[in-house]
Amino acid sequence: MSFGAAASAHRGRRLAAEAACPCGRRDFGSCCGPVLDGQAAETPEDLMRSRYTAFALGDARHLVDTWFPGTRPDDLTIDPDTEWMGLVVLDSDTASDGRSGRVRFRASWREGAAREVATMEEDSRFVRRVGRWYYVDAL
Ligand SMILES: [Zn+2]
Repeated sequence: MSFGAAASAHRGRRLAAEAACPCGRRDFGSCCGPVLDGQAAETPEDLMRSRYTAFALGDARHLVDTWFPGTRPDDLTIDPDTEWMGLVVLDSDTASDGRSGRVRFRASWREGAAREVATMEEDSRFVRRVGRWYYVDAL
């Protein structure tokens, strides 16, 4: 019997509540920790931050769970060699009907033998369904 990739995906590491959250906003226990443990994100930015933190902690399950089913990849693996270095949220907004939102951010990481820091900037789209935000895609 198989429950598929979504059910078997790894939950990753957890940090102490008072540790600095990988997303850089405040301590883990009052930032991304509760969202990683299943609490609904209040805003698109909160969800985006929790997804960055999920990459940093190896929580593939959270990434799958918060990806809109229509755009979710069949398979998702997190490269354990990638070290996430930081997140900067540049801009975010929620539509007046509360059902969609966008977050523009810059994330940096390093990987491979050289460990050179790389940076990406993305404008992500989110939708809210039955009280929960989902990542849709990047513009
Ligand atoms: Zn956080």
